[in-house]
Amino acid sequence: MSLSFFCRASLPTQLQSQVHATGGRKRGLERVKKLITRNGIPSVITSPLESLQNGNWVKLICGASFEDVVDIRNLSLVYTLAGVDCIDCAAESSVVSAVNEGIETARGIVPIRRPWVMISVNDDEDLHFRKAEFDPNDCPLDCSRPCENICPAHAILNLGAASGDKGGVVAERCYGCGRCLPVCPYDKIKAITYIRDITATAKLLERDDVDAIEIHTSGRQDASFRDLWNGLGDSIDNVRLVAVSFPDLRDSTISAMNAMYSAMKANLRCFNLWQLDGRPMSGDIGRGATREAISFASYLATARDRPKGFLQLAGGTNAHTVEGLKKRRLFQTKTMFDESYDGSEHLHSVSSSHALISGVAFGGYARKVVGRVLSSLRPEDGRAAIENYPDHLVEALTESLALVGSVKCYGK
Ligand code: SF4
Ligand code: SF4
Repeated sequence: MSLSFFCRASLPTQLQSQVHATGGRKRGLERVKKLITRNGIPSVITSPLESLQNGNWVKLICGASFEDVVDIRNLSLVYTLAGVDCIDCAAESSVVSAVNEGIETARGIVPIRRPWVMISVNDDEDLHFRKAEFDPNDCPLDCSRPCENICPAHAILNLGAASGDKGGVVAERCYGCGRCLPVCPYDKIKAITYIRDITATAKLLERDDVDAIEIHTSGRQDASFRDLWNGLGDSIDNVRLVAVSFPDLRDSTISAMNAMYSAMKANLRCFNLWQLDGRPMSGDIGRGATREAISFASYLATARDRPKGFLQLAGGTNAHTVEGLKKRRLFQTKTMFDESYDGSEHLHSVSSSHALISGVAFGGYARKVVGRVLSSLRPEDGRAAIENYPDHLVEALTESLALVGSVKCYGK
C-alpha cells in the first residue's frame, strides 16, 4: 500500500490522474464481472443451437439499416455480456467488424461464449431497408421540427443549429422506421429504399466471423426470393443458420413458407429459422406492440403443414413478450428432432411437426433501453468505448440483463 502511494506521489499530475482512471476502470469492470457472476450467466447460457432447441434463444437486432459503428460496437459488447445467442446486423463489412469487436471486447472482460453473428439482406423492397432523406435547405424556418422529436434513433440532428450547420438525416443512424415521414407538415421527407447486393453478401458470408444470414422478404415474390437464394450459391455452406423474416400473410402464410422452403431445401445444409415479423420496428412504442408477433407465433405453432425450421418472434417484441407467450402456453416449448438427426449441427434441419417457439429477437426495444445510456457517451472524438465508462456499462448491462433474462430466466 505504502509503495503504491509512494509511486503515485512521485508521478506528474497528468500521469496520476491516468493511474486513478485506470484504477477506477479496473474496479468498475470488477463490478461488471460480479453482476454477471451473481446472475450465474456463464453457467446458465448454452450454445446458440442449444438455446434454439430449448426455446430460450435471444437475438439482438442492431437493425438491417443501422450503420452507426460506434453504437453497434457498444450494443454488441453489452448484449454479449447479457448472454444473447445471436447479433443480427446490417450486411456491411464495417458493421460486421464493429459487432465482432464488441463481442471480443466483452469476452475479454468476462469469458463468456460467443454469440453468432448474423447479417440481414432483402430480396426486394422492404421497410427495413430504407433511409429517410430531406434537404434541410427546403425546410421553412418556422417549422417546429416534429421530425427531429419523433426519431427514435436520434438520426435527425442539428436542424436550425446556430452554427449555421443545417443538419438533416444522419444516414448511418437512420434505420428506416418511417416515423418521421407522416409528421412533416410540408411533406419534405422521402424514403429511399435499396436492396443489398448479392455478390457483396456472398463475400461477407465467407468471413469466419459471420455465422448466419437472414433474408427479409414479403413472402409474396417467389421469383425474387429464388433469385437471391440462387445468387448466394455455395456461400450459404459457410453459415450455421439461415433465417427468413416475413410478415403474417394470413391465409397465404403456410403456402408462402412452403414455396420458400422448397426454393431453399436443395442446398440448405444447415439449420433454418422463420422469423415472425409481427409489427415491424415497433417494440419501443409500447406494451401492445408485441401482440401481433404473439398472434402470428400462436397461429404457426399450431399449424401442422408448415415446413421445417425453428420459429422466432420479432417485430414489436419488448419486455412484455414473454408474459404474452406464457399466457398462450407458448413459452419454453421443447424442440423435437427428426428421427434421422445424428447430432451433427450441419446435416439436418429440425422437424417442424411439433409446435414450438425457439425464441425472441429484440430490436428497437433493446436499442432503446441501452441507447439511453449510450447517448450519454458522446466524447468529442465520437468514438466512446463503453468499457472505459464502467458506471455506464453497469447501467446498460442491468437494463440488458432484465430484457435477455426475461427469456433466459436468469436467477430462477
Ligand atoms: S424517424 Fe425513423 S426513418 Fe426517420 S430518420 Fe429517424 S430512424 Fe430514419
Ligand atoms: S418536419 Fe419537415 S419541414 Fe420541418 S424540419 Fe422536419 S423535414 Fe423540415
